[in-house]
Amino acid sequence: MKIRSVPFFNYPWVYEQHEEEIKSVMQDVLKRGAFILQKDLEEFENSISKFIDAKYVLGVADGTNALNLGLISAGIGRGDEVILPSHTYIASAASIHYVGATPVPVECGEDHMLDVDSIKKAITKHTKAIMPVQLNGRTCNMHKIQAIADEADLLIIEDAAQALGSKFKGKSAGTFGVVGTFSFYPAKVLGCFGDGGAVVTNDNTIGDKLALLRDHGRNAKGDVVAWGTNSRLDNLQAAVLSVKLKYYIHDINRRRELAALYDSYLKEIRQLRLPPPPSNDCEHFDVYQNYELVADQRDELKSYLAEHGVGTLIQFGGKAIHQHTELGFRDIRLPVTERMYERFLMLPMNTSLTNSDVEYVCEKLCNFYKNK
Ligand SMILES: *Cc1c(COP(=O)(O)O)cnc(C)c1O
Repeated sequence: MKIRSVPFFNYPWVYEQHEEEIKSVMQDVLKRGAFILQKDLEEFENSISKFIDAKYVLGVADGTNALNLGLISAGIGRGDEVILPSHTYIASAASIHYVGATPVPVECGEDHMLDVDSIKKAITKHTKAIMPVQLNGRTCNMHKIQAIADEADLLIIEDAAQALGSKFKGKSAGTFGVVGTFSFYPAKVLGCFGDGGAVVTNDNTIGDKLALLRDHGRNAKGDVVAWGTNSRLDNLQAAVLSVKLKYYIHDINRRRELAALYDSYLKEIRQLRLPPPPSNDCEHFDVYQNYELVADQRDELKSYLAEHGVGTLIQFGGKAIHQHTELGFRDIRLPVTERMYERFLMLPMNTSLTNSDVEYVCEKLCNFYKNK
């Protein structure tokens, strides 16, 4: 087999997939001059609300803003501690920092998700909330996390940036906590043509607060009734997202198919630990934002795959939250997470991949480990 190019992510594909339909929708918005807080945004918010069964969905500037506003609306602030997995994007921790609270990073488990036992050990009298991160398109065991939160009287703020449509026991990611957040960054499971995000809640008071917060504290009449900021999902992006949402179930199913295909080719390689396979056991329904392995000789493998045209990525620049010492994290030891960070690697996972792309990638992986 000759070298083929399997990039980690295919950005032009975000557009190419539905080029004609997107062009016509964008033209419609542009001709109407409907740019900010128009009906396309409202329609998109309503669609997401139905899709995940959440009462309030507010389109905001990006996933990081969604977290910031979510934390503020839930009353998290100065002096509070928020527990989160150390295996997450810096934005999860930064949002906690920016509301004046302290991010407390803890271990991740075998499935790469927030480790439940580590949460308990990190609770102090200052702990106000837990921020589970629905990483790689999987939802944490939210029953266990909810039980801990109930016992210690803590709020749950869900970072579901990577997990639109993912479920735990039939309930959608983003709807377990008092607030949940999503990102529509182009490489996310549902991606727009720039930055975008949403914050969701079932709580009336918080929903009202969020609506004010994202639009300068202005109510429906335009009167300023609270301190707010500017964090609105562009109407044009919302219109594009509505097009993509129509095909989203199909996209998720394709991602699950690709994950099953990887699984079938790679499961015999003892130097790899694969992510949980797509299951139908009614516990976890994963949407595979990422296909993240734990691999022996990770760096060597990454170079070998690159030589053969296969793009891979080490998530979050290869650094867990607590390893960012420049940000003031000192003397935190999370051995399980640290060991995994030496071995994490993500394979291409997106709907532009063909089955033979996946076969090619897996063949290269098999070749790499064959004589080791
Ligand atoms: C992408 C991401 C974010 C931030 O989303 P942006 O839209 O890029 O601001 C936050 N948390 C996690 C886990 C993410 O993957």
